[in-house]
Amino acid sequence: MQTLTPLLSLDRDSRMARLAELVPIGPTAAATSIPPGGIRGGRDAALRRLTAIDPVAYARTRNFTGGAVSRLSPWLRHGVLSLAEVRDAALDRVSQPADAEKFISELGWRDYWRQVQAALGPLIRRDIEPPAARWRTTSRLETMPADVLAAQTGLACVDDFVRRLHDTGWLHNHERMWLASWLVHIRGVRWQVGADWFLSHLLDGDPASNHLSWQWVAGTFSAKPYLFNRENLERFTDGAHCRDCGLMGECAMEGSYDDLEGRLFAAGPQQRDPLRIPPAPHWRLGDAPPTGGPLVWLTLDSLAATSPAARRYSTAPRLFVVDPAWLSEEQPSLKRLAFIFDCLAEIDDLEVVHAAPAEAVPLVASRLGCGFVAVTSTPCPATRDAAARIAMHLPVHVIDEPPFCDRSRVTDLGRFSRYWSKVSRSALAPTPDRQR
Ligand SMILES: Cc1cc2nc3c(=O)[nH]c(=O)nc-3n(C[C@H](O)[C@H](O)[C@H](O)COP(=O)(O)OP(=O)(O)OC[C@H]3O[C@@H](n4cnc5c(N)ncnc54)[C@H](O)[C@@H]3O)c2cc1C
Repeated sequence: MQTLTPLLSLDRDSRMARLAELVPIGPTAAATSIPPGGIRGGRDAALRRLTAIDPVAYARTRNFTGGAVSRLSPWLRHGVLSLAEVRDAALDRVSQPADAEKFISELGWRDYWRQVQAALGPLIRRDIEPPAARWRTTSRLETMPADVLAAQTGLACVDDFVRRLHDTGWLHNHERMWLASWLVHIRGVRWQVGADWFLSHLLDGDPASNHLSWQWVAGTFSAKPYLFNRENLERFTDGAHCRDCGLMGECAMEGSYDDLEGRLFAAGPQQRDPLRIPPAPHWRLGDAPPTGGPLVWLTLDSLAATSPAARRYSTAPRLFVVDPAWLSEEQPSLKRLAFIFDCLAEIDDLEVVHAAPAEAVPLVASRLGCGFVAVTSTPCPATRDAAARIAMHLPVHVIDEPPFCDRSRVTDLGRFSRYWSKVSRSALAPTPDRQR
């Protein structure tokens, strides 16, 4: 078990250099750098960005790449902000709740993907449904094409998206949809390959939102595959890419949607049974004992002193474990690691180690004389597995996130629309003790 706690007191660049010396950070991190002036992690930065959201402008402009999107995703992904807190902030900004509806329904997508992940666990990495349409070319690429990774496809849009994904770790939702659609439907890349590539680079990289969005684009978890044409891209980018593109007028996105579908897919939809996904039971690992102090185990879903378990046991020692299996499986970029360590550096009384969580958490708890472990609820299957193994040695108290919505009427997670029809009313209302 390698201790990394001393890194928290270093400045950002030295911290990352030292991290690379101490642990195998993986080839993606080793090959990437941290952009000067890039996005910083931590609660202070999150709150600054939260005060800037504008739900009214968002509803009008969110699909445009220059639109008033919040850019809150890296902090939401790591539990530095909760969905409920962001929803409440959005309601505070508007004169009537309906003006925040569009923004809150997008928060709802995050909540929905997390519920699907809780229900399906690691299965979200496989096709959930057979593809909604049959590609004309059935063989799929098993690796990312070299010209894409080098941002040298000759398509001004794709090359720009790739460069910005690599350099900054953030893309607008529409850019993610276009890039994923182009890779899967036009370049014939297996969606999992693209999803893993995104996951390594995105600052908000989250298997729930990421892999399930790729499935939505691919048509393995949606009624039809997502396609776009040049006209759509030009409209929402204000023509920024096509204007200077060497392939203008000749790219594979030319034409109407009917033309595109005819070129890419064999005629006739796939026959598929309607999918039903029952929600997972409420995650619990028994109750915490009334005596004995806790060790608060912070995970990638709870990287703040304000996260539920840390807040509930505010004077308890805290532990974050850098899991070697996560480093080798997800291959996080250096920017993502820097963001995570920014968050950790703001948390008092925190120990950071590099080890398998199921082994490290009981060891540290025993060394500190803690009687149980407290952890914030998460749909992440690896964290749930580790927590179940820890619970064989020590009681584990799971603390729920602040409720974003009332899910008691949800019986089927097969589609977002079904989910949203059951929860939207509660999601659009402020947290009760914050009623204005
Ligand atoms: C192929 C693909 C991969 C994606 N991978 C990720 C990922 O790894 N992590 C991630 O957080 N989001 C992912 N998204 C969803 C979405 O693109 C981002 O959450 C959003 O663009 C972040 O920008 P924002 O904070 O300005 O969002 P805003 O539009 O301002 O929305 C506010 C918040 O709502 C949530 N949200 C909005 N749209 C979505 C959505 N479609 N799905 C899930 N949550 C949403 C996010 O938490 C976001 O921060 C992906 C989308 C696609 C199409």
